[in-house]
Amino acid sequence: IAHYRDGSWETPRLAELGPLDLAPHTQALHYGQAIFEGMKAYRNLGADGGPPLLFRPYEHARRFNRSALRLGMPEIDEQVFVRALEELVAVLEPFVPARRGQSLYLRPTMFGATADLSVVPSTEFCFVVLATPSDAFFTTPVSAWIERHYSRAGAGGTGCVKAAGNYAASFAAAAPLRENGFHQLLWLDAVEHRYLEEFTAMNVFVRRGDLLYTPPLSDTILAGITRDSLLALGPSLGLKMEERPVDIHELTDAIRAGEDVEVFGCGTGAVVAPVELIGDETGMRLPLPSQATALELRERLLDIQHGTTGAPDGWQHTVAPL
Ligand code: PMP
Repeated sequence: IAHYRDGSWETPRLAELGPLDLAPHTQALHYGQAIFEGMKAYRNLGADGGPPLLFRPYEHARRFNRSALRLGMPEIDEQVFVRALEELVAVLEPFVPARRGQSLYLRPTMFGATADLSVVPSTEFCFVVLATPSDAFFTTPVSAWIERHYSRAGAGGTGCVKAAGNYAASFAAAAPLRENGFHQLLWLDAVEHRYLEEFTAMNVFVRRGDLLYTPPLSDTILAGITRDSLLALGPSLGLKMEERPVDIHELTDAIRAGEDVEVFGCGTGAVVAPVELIGDETGMRLPLPSQATALELRERLLDIQHGTTGAPDGWQHTVAPL
């Protein structure tokens, strides 16, 4: 935990998990000045073992700072951010699960801590990193519910950063999904309700034949670090990668026509999650039989995250001892 006061951050210190002392008029509670990251520390399962590995932590630090700036909050030094994570993982090392796919989930967060009811940015901020052991999410394929009314993000909004409020907007939309036994919202663009944007907390990929594509980044799509990693890994599986808009009608027509189509989500939590069913409120239910590419990409990524194969620079960050 670290506080920002009088124009500078104090050095983050380790603390027991406990309640925070917050005034009811704390800025973040009223105006949503809050951001976060989701990251994982993995047990090093490579031949030589060693301390746990963080996956692309500097990418997360940079995205955290982009989120901070978008919400009018101060950046935090990337080295300080990564060092705070390392310290936390080092003291919690016994709780980093040993099984492949499991991890210590890390949640850096920052919020406006000034107690003031006027709509002005805070001058005091709080940076906290939480950690909790995590099972592999979605070890079985997921179902996706096309959201046809609400939208997650608008042009010029905060959809491209990890603002806490982006998720608040999805809770009501997710109610029919749960009633129908689905797992993930599949958001469409806010203008035409036609182009795929993201799942609730994952970026979306579509494979048709040997072409693997994902919507291009925009100000309504989060620049997922897993998405970026898959764009880099895809060609090694013989796939042609493309970033291009994905029309929902084109996709559902191709599935109905029995074409070789695969859909999957990717993100820190799920790593890669194959989609076995797409549905919506009209009663449409489209099964997707193919999952091979998603499963193969998940294994490739887990190999890297657990240190059992090599990876590009910065992807496997060994946690330095305390
Ligand atoms: N989109 C949204 C809305 C998310 O919450 C997440 C999870 N952080 C992602 C995409 C995937 O991002 P990443 O691969 O960096 O976890």
